[in-house]
Amino acid sequence: MSTINQSYRKVVGSEVRFSLPYDSSCPCGSKVPANKCCLSPSGFFKQPCNTTPKGKVTGISREKCYANSLNDCCKKLSGEHYISQNLLHHLNINNSLSVSGFSWTGTDTKTVPPSALASNILCERHNNILSGLDSIALKLFHALDESDLSDTDDKELLLFSGHDLERWLLKTLCGLIASKSLALTDDVERGIQREWLEILYGKSEFSGEAGLYICKTTGHTFSGAHGVEAQAIVKKGKVSGLGLKICGYELVFSMTGFPTRVFDSRDFAYRPLELYAIRGKYEKSVVFSWEGAADLGTITLNLNK
Ligand SMILES: [Zn+2]
Ligand SMILES: [Zn+2]
Repeated sequence: MSTINQSYRKVVGSEVRFSLPYDSSCPCGSKVPANKCCLSPSGFFKQPCNTTPKGKVTGISREKCYANSLNDCCKKLSGEHYISQNLLHHLNINNSLSVSGFSWTGTDTKTVPPSALASNILCERHNNILSGLDSIALKLFHALDESDLSDTDDKELLLFSGHDLERWLLKTLCGLIASKSLALTDDVERGIQREWLEILYGKSEFSGEAGLYICKTTGHTFSGAHGVEAQAIVKKGKVSGLGLKICGYELVFSMTGFPTRVFDSRDFAYRPLELYAIRGKYEKSVVFSWEGAADLGTITLNLNK
């Protein structure tokens, strides 16, 4: 991740422009110069990671692997954490991992060890190929974590593929469904649709306005609390998405979309370009790159207490 001392950001009309010193390393964290990595004449684009298993389709459908309808399993079942393991261990610093909204936690927030979230729900082939998404989740957590932000005038620019983040949220949703961990009433249908698996494993793209939504309400003060909170989104009696709070940030992921951009009586942006956080002279932009439909735009967060 790169820290820049000079201003990197300029707003021209309704457009946000980023400029970096000539030889600075890419904000995606690759340590390669930006112009040899994700910076093109048309702006930043971070190539999404590959989630399609290598080689020929195996023809195996492993019982208990939630992706078994793709007939591309291996024989061995993996002990997968349905919220990325590395992220859980990071959140578990000082044993302060808190989880709520899951079926077995009831209405209270409970502190649990990460091992409590392990469940055998994918074969190794389908699990291992998603590891790139898990490391992105951890990077994003670091990018959003403001809990130990001291009085600094740093300028930070961090770049993520929005498509990777969406697939990580889809993976998390599938994991919560497969391990029966979502708090839902009995009449709600909670299947993992084949179409979702095809998107997760890179065989097709999100369609319509499915994908990532972030609340646009400005003036939010985020406290940076440690913990994960998850909530299923149900539409017409079926699980259609996931609300996830990480460090006080709220990510809303929907497989059906919100054409009005309103959810839970609040305004949301579909696939925003930038989360821009400021405190005094400190500035941070978490930038998401997108291909295809996106609202883009900036969501500004004031971190002042
Ligand atoms: Zn890059
Ligand atoms: Zn499998």
